[in-house]
Amino acid sequence: MSLAETYTDNLRAMPSARRVLLLAGTTEAAAIARTLDGRDDLDVVASFAGATLAPRPIARHQRIGGFGGVNGLAAYLRAERIDVLVDATHPFAARMRWHAHDAATAAGTARVRVERPAWEPVDGDRWHEVDAVADAPAALDRARRIFLTTGRQELAPFASLADRWFLIRSIDPPDPLPLPHAHVVLSRGPFTVDDERALMAGHRIDTLVTKNSGGEATAAKLTAARDLGIPVVMVRRPPNPPGPLVTTADEAVAWLAGTRP
Ligand code: NAP
Repeated sequence: MSLAETYTDNLRAMPSARRVLLLAGTTEAAAIARTLDGRDDLDVVASFAGATLAPRPIARHQRIGGFGGVNGLAAYLRAERIDVLVDATHPFAARMRWHAHDAATAAGTARVRVERPAWEPVDGDRWHEVDAVADAPAALDRARRIFLTTGRQELAPFASLADRWFLIRSIDPPDPLPLPHAHVVLSRGPFTVDDERALMAGHRIDTLVTKNSGGEATAAKLTAARDLGIPVVMVRRPPNPPGPLVTTADEAVAWLAGTRP
């Protein structure tokens, strides 16, 4: 029996439970799932895109893979009789938030977006902000040894900088790796400031490129860059659709309580 079938059977067995679809892939989504685990008034299914090869289990009911655009998601919301859609996808998951907004509107499902606050520069930071990863290479004319933390699937824009050396950090191996001079470090946060400083100093990094993901787990690289006087090319976040927006897992859980019929 598939996970989806098991989930549907469980829903039928618990007609009074409100059904929550949690769009996951972030620490906030994991925290929401943990908080809601065991509540018999809510039945939560966590959904992953499948971007990470082996996502950590966060809920008893999970599904993996896209829904097939707005129409596919709207059909899922109706078929599974979802009452609330919690969109806790990553601050840089640019498409899914709009699919969630449009599908929830079409299906008449309550929806909330959960997005952690962005990082803000502090004294000593040398940030150069750009609107998209594709704009980062143009800001790297003086850089020679570049620490790239923008994700294994967004390396292509840097292929134009074939004469530079890159340190690439990702959870899964990049495939393909379009950069001729690169060293790949596979690891998943959280990272400490000491380790980040040692990593950057050890590889003689002169510029850090990062997306403004926010959050504690990967903020240490910014402190390390500040300590070492290393400039940061910071990619700004994509915009959010209109509608309710909360910034923490606790706020999301409180928002859910407020939607109780
Ligand atoms: P995206 O551009 O917003 O979404 C691309 C497609 O992936 C969507 O159209 C949807 O496919 C599917 N999708 C996204 N999130 C999903 C979910 N939670 N459950 C089921 N399908 C989902 O997102 P992305 O940038 O490719 O990121 C994919 C996932 O990785 C997201 O869930 C995100 O939270 C996580 N993530 C992304 C980043 C990042 O930097 N982009 C970093 C960490 C984690 P259909 O249209 O077929 O439904």
